[in-house]
Amino acid sequence: MEKTNVPELFGSLVFNDREMKKRLSADVYTSLKKTIDENARLEENVADAVAEEMKNWAIENGATHFTHWFQPLTGVTAEKHDSFIEPTNDGGVVMEFSGKELIKGEPDASSFPSGGLRATFEARGYTAWDPTSYAFIKDHTLCIPTAFCSYSGDALDKKTPLLRSMQAINRQAKRILKLFGTEANYVRTSVGPEQEYFLVDKEVFSKRPDLKYTGRTLFGAMPPKGQEMDDHYFGVIKPRVTEFMEDLNQELWKLGILAKTEHNEVAPAQHELAPIYSTTNIATDSNQLTMEIMKKVASRHGMECLLHEKPFAGVNGSGKHNNWSISTDTGINLLSPGKTPYENAQFLLFLAAVIQAVDDYQDLLRLSVATAGNDHRLGANEAPPAIISIFLGDELTAILNAIRDDKPYEGTENVVMKLGVHSLPRFSRDTTDRNRTSPFAFTGNKFEFRSLGSSNSIACCNIMLNAAVAESLRQYADILEKSDDFEADLHALIKKVITDHQRILFDGNGYGEEWIKEATEVRGLSNLRTTADAMPHLLDKKNMDMLMAHKVFTETELHSRCEIMLENYVKTVNIEGLTMVDMVRKNYLPAIERYLYRLAETTNLMRQVSSNVKCNYEVSTMERLSELTDHILDAVKALENVLARFKEIDDIFESSAFVRDEMLPSMDVLRKYVDEAEMLTSQRDWPFPSYGQLLFSVN
Ligand code: ADP
Ligand code: MG
Repeated sequence: MEKTNVPELFGSLVFNDREMKKRLSADVYTSLKKTIDENARLEENVADAVAEEMKNWAIENGATHFTHWFQPLTGVTAEKHDSFIEPTNDGGVVMEFSGKELIKGEPDASSFPSGGLRATFEARGYTAWDPTSYAFIKDHTLCIPTAFCSYSGDALDKKTPLLRSMQAINRQAKRILKLFGTEANYVRTSVGPEQEYFLVDKEVFSKRPDLKYTGRTLFGAMPPKGQEMDDHYFGVIKPRVTEFMEDLNQELWKLGILAKTEHNEVAPAQHELAPIYSTTNIATDSNQLTMEIMKKVASRHGMECLLHEKPFAGVNGSGKHNNWSISTDTGINLLSPGKTPYENAQFLLFLAAVIQAVDDYQDLLRLSVATAGNDHRLGANEAPPAIISIFLGDELTAILNAIRDDKPYEGTENVVMKLGVHSLPRFSRDTTDRNRTSPFAFTGNKFEFRSLGSSNSIACCNIMLNAAVAESLRQYADILEKSDDFEADLHALIKKVITDHQRILFDGNGYGEEWIKEATEVRGLSNLRTTADAMPHLLDKKNMDMLMAHKVFTETELHSRCEIMLENYVKTVNIEGLTMVDMVRKNYLPAIERYLYRLAETTNLMRQVSSNVKCNYEVSTMERLSELTDHILDAVKALENVLARFKEIDDIFESSAFVRDEMLPSMDVLRKYVDEAEMLTSQRDWPFPSYGQLLFSVN
C-alpha cells in the first residue's frame, strides 16, 4: 500500500477554516467568522463571495454538483444533487453558484416525515445553510450542511433543535460565568461519540432476508461459540478488517473527521471507532457521515457494515457512547475540576447543574435514545438499564457528601469544606473507575452517556442534555444574580442541589435486579422499558414547558416529533413481523418438511432392509420436528392475525402499545420454535446461513 501523508490528506475534501482564510478576502472572512462564532446575520454580498470561492474550490477538487445536506427525521441524511451548470447563449455552459443557492434550498418536503405538521397542500420545505459546520465534497458533490424546516418555519430535522439547544446552554452558561467573572465570548458543548458496529461478509449477508430488510436477524439458534471466551475484545484485528479500517480512516480524514481509535469489541465480528471530540453540531454531522462511509467502505471490501443495535440475539449489541462536556471559547472545560478555590466552586456548580438536569429530565434522556432497535439492548445486561442514573466515582462522591453533610473531607485540610474558600482536593482522573453498568458516568472532565444505540443520531440526546442543563443553569442564575452574599448563597445552592438530587447518584451495579427494585421502589426513578413507554413523555407538561421556554422546540414540533418517533417504532416492528411471516411460510416450513421427508423415507428404507433397526434417531427427530412444525404453524398464524389487527388501529399511541404488548411477544414465540427446529435439522436443508456462519464470516 502506498504511504499516505496524513496531514496533507486530512480535510482535503473540506472547505475548512484554512481554505476560507486562503481564498476569501479579509473582509469577507471576518464577516463569515462572526456569523460562525457569534451567530451574527450573514450579509448577502458576503454569501455571494463565499459561494463563489466555495464553488471554485469544489470544482478544483473534482465536484460537478452541489447539494444541501440535511438530517430529516428518518434517521439518515438526505441530499438532492444539482449541477453547477448554467447554459450560455452560444450553446455552452458555465459553472455557477450564487449566495442565494448557498443559503437556501427548497426541496420538496412531502416525502419526509412531518408528523402531521404540514398539511398536504403545503408540501414545500426549505433548507438553510449552517455555516458552523464546514461544507465538504462527497461523490463529486459539494455538500452544504443545512437545517431543514417547513415553510411555516417548523423544524423538520434534527439539526435545527440541536443548534437551538446549543444557543440555550450558551445563553444560560454565560450568565453563570459572568457571576464568577470568568471571561468567555461563548460557551459550547463538545461531543466525542464512540461508534460500535459489526462486519459481516457480503455474500453471507445477502442470503439473510431478515438482515437485508430489517438490519437484524429475526431467527437464529446460538452458535457453539459466541463471546464467552472474551477473546475478541481488543484482540488482534483480522487482515481484511485492518484493510477496511485503513481505508475507512483515509476516507474520514479526507472529510476532516478526526477518526482516532479503533479496536475489536466484545462480540465476534464487532468493532469500534472513536473520533477525537468536537463541537456538538459538527460531531453530529461527522457521526452521520461516519456511519454512511462505514457502510460504503465495507461494501468496497466485500463486507456489510451492520449498525443495528441488536443484529444478533444472545450476542452483545452495538451502542454509541456520547462523551459530553461544556467549554468556553477561552479554553476552559467547565466540567474539569480547577486548581483554585474559585475554579472549583464554578466546576461544582456546573456539576450540580448536570446532576439536577439528569434527575429532573431522566425521561427526556431515556426517550432521546428510544428506538425499536435500542429497546433490545437497554436493560438486557449488556448495556445500561433503561433506568437513568449517574456514576460519579468514589472521590467526587466523597466530596459532594462532605458538602452535603457539612463534614470535613478527609482528603483536604481537616476543616468543613467551604466553597470559594477551600481548595478541592486534587483528585486524579484515572481513579474514576470505569463502571460500565452506569448509563451516565463522570469520567474526569466529561460525562459519558452510554445508553445510545449504535444507529441513533447523537443529535437527539444532545438536544435534551443541552436543554436540561440550560434549565438548571437558568434557575441558578436567577437565584445568584439577586444574591448579596455570593459565596454563601452559592454554597447553599450547591448543597441544596446535592441533597435534593441524591436519588439520581448511583455507583453500584446497574445490571442487578436489586438496583431495578431500589431505583423504582425506593428512589422513585423512572424505568421506561420500551419506546412505547418512553416516547409519550415528550408531551408531559413539565418537559414541554422546559423545551419551549428555552426555545428548543415549539409546541407543534413536539407533537409532530412524538408522533414521528412512535411511527418509526411501529413501522420498524411491523416490517420485522411481515419479514418473519415471509421467511417462515416460504422457507422455514418447507425446509423442515423436506428434512422430515428424508427422515421418513430413510426410516422406511432402513426397515425394509432389516427388521432389527430401531431408527431411534430418525423417529425421535421426526416426532419432535413434526410437533415443532405444528407449533410454528400456530405461531405464524397468530402473528398474521396480530399483523392484520395492527392495520386496523389508527391512533399512534394505541398502535405503539399494541406493538409492545401483542406484536413483539408473538414474534418471540414464533422465533423460539424455529430456533429449536434449526438445532434438529440438517444444515444441508436449512435455508439460511446460521449465526456461526454470520459471526465468523470475515476472516
Ligand atoms: P475513555 O477511553 O475513557 O472512554 P477516551 O479518552 O478514549 O476515554 O475518550 C473517549 C471519547 O471521549 C473520545 O471520542 C474523546 O475524544 C472524547 N473526549 C475526550 N475529552 C472530551 C471532552 N472534554 N469533551 C467531550 N468529549 C471528550
Ligand atoms: Mg468511553
